[in-house]
Amino acid sequence: MDKPVSVQQFKCTQCGGELHPDEGQRFVTCPYCSSTVYLDKSCVVFHWYLAPTLDEGKARAALARWMAGNETVKDLDKKSRVVAVTFQYFPIWYLKQRREGRENIFLELAAATSVSELKRLHLPAGDLRRYDPVLDATAQPPTVPLQAALDWLAERNVDAAEIVESALVHVPLYAFKYQYDDQRYTAVVEGATGRVFANIYPAKAEAPYLFVGGLTAAVFFCLATLPVAGALIEGGEGLGIGLLLLLALGVPAALLLLGLAAWVASRV
Ligand SMILES: [Zn+2]
Repeated sequence: MDKPVSVQQFKCTQCGGELHPDEGQRFVTCPYCSSTVYLDKSCVVFHWYLAPTLDEGKARAALARWMAGNETVKDLDKKSRVVAVTFQYFPIWYLKQRREGRENIFLELAAATSVSELKRLHLPAGDLRRYDPVLDATAQPPTVPLQAALDWLAERNVDAAEIVESALVHVPLYAFKYQYDDQRYTAVVEGATGRVFANIYPAKAEAPYLFVGGLTAAVFFCLATLPVAGALIEGGEGLGIGLLLLLALGVPAALLLLGLAAWVASRV
């Protein structure tokens, strides 16, 4: 009654058992050893997921900490408003290279995303679990073939022959859309470590800091010329007077500039 669903032969990477996926089926559980595998063209790889440790409330708290931190504009946590949050398992290719006795892990994004910063993602070691089909509803299928990921590695001079293990890993991500100053931004919170990824965000303005830094350099350069000038004009005695002046003026100047820097930091 059933027509043959696939002409291709797939073998489980764990036990070697024959897999008979339905047409178009990519996520497969081995009927013999219940490994979960992913079928990518002719190739079968392990399929893992990273278990989330953060619920939405904790992810929101991680986002708020990042917004209150030093990268973003002051009080972003208070001045912005989260307008949407979505959760999904995002696919990445996990490639293990063995070279000269050492193992290196490479990760490549397995689907398109507007948050390309995600390529800085790290997997916490030891937290990978066997993929569960229950997750299908919230798991984005990969759109980047494994071969494309291997080609990217080849461009970085990683030899495909040295890749001893490939796997598909689904990583839990909370995507937050938030509003700040009539602009909408996206930030992604990784659901296992709470790390935040964002391509564009309201950043701290740098100009006031550069100004204070420049002013500090100029003031102390001028002060440093005092002993030199003293020595040139009056010899040894002039040098002493110059050094005393440097101390007398340098300490209050340093305090003033420190105060200015603190004031700038409190405002920007
Ligand atoms: Zn198996």
